[in-house]
Amino acid sequence: MGWHEVLWIGRILVLMQLVHGVVGWGKDGHYAVCKIAEAYLTEDALVTVKELLPDSAGGELASVCSWADDIKWYYKWHWTSPLHYVDTPDFKCNYQYCRDCHDSAGHKDSCVTGAIFNYTKQHFSAYQGYDPQLKYNLTEALMFLAHFVGDVHQPLHVGFTGDLGGNTITVRWYHRKTNLHHVWDTMIIDSAVKTFYGSDLAIMIQTIQRNITDAWSNDISSWEYCEYNQTVCPNLYASESVRLACTFAYRNATPGSTLEDDYFLSRLPIVEKRLAQGGIRLAAVLNRIFASEVKIARA
Ligand SMILES: [Zn+2]
Repeated sequence: MGWHEVLWIGRILVLMQLVHGVVGWGKDGHYAVCKIAEAYLTEDALVTVKELLPDSAGGELASVCSWADDIKWYYKWHWTSPLHYVDTPDFKCNYQYCRDCHDSAGHKDSCVTGAIFNYTKQHFSAYQGYDPQLKYNLTEALMFLAHFVGDVHQPLHVGFTGDLGGNTITVRWYHRKTNLHHVWDTMIIDSAVKTFYGSDLAIMIQTIQRNITDAWSNDISSWEYCEYNQTVCPNLYASESVRLACTFAYRNATPGSTLEDDYFLSRLPIVEKRLAQGGIRLAAVLNRIFASEVKIARA
């Protein structure tokens, strides 16, 4: 291979890093969402989740919650890249399924909320008389669902089309050059773990769990609630995210700005609450899916 080719491959790799949606919450964010969810699963749901998990998971849902990010680099899985986010019209600060849920080529339902509906439905139809393994791979469906419920809670996964959810907004995070999307996926959580939690993610997760049973305890049932008896309501989660994107993520984060203590300390509570909501809602969805399985099986 000549230098010319090496250079091109390098450029392509850099471009792939920049392409929107190649990252979700970072590994830590997804791990936190799933760890929080695990603690709120019912007995029934926990049994079925453990049955569905691949052996490599060691019985732990949280250990496979970044799987959907790991695989999208493979050609076979390229089609899943648009499923990690949904773009909304610039500065509208609202989200509508019919208007917004499509990929860049215009394919409908190809976005994070569409994916959450789809993988929830796959579980349902699998338990309603079909042979589940024939039609869908439910292990994959579970791992996708757990990941995308996390992603839709990251405000900039429901950001503006024009800046690719903050991916094209170059900023400094303290001294480090990065982009706004990455700040919300990873940097805020990283800095918090280092600054406040003794570099131990487990302590950050425990602190969020304590808030759930303490400061937020009255909010939990409203977080779990879906209108019209729906199993899952990703449109609500996406609407919340784009509002938070406008109020907190984009505000004071113009291209070229340096984000430091003011930004970090005022946004960290938002990130922690979104991780908590993602976890509680993931558990609620899985509890509903796998409770109905038991009812149908016994009917
Ligand atoms: Zn993702």
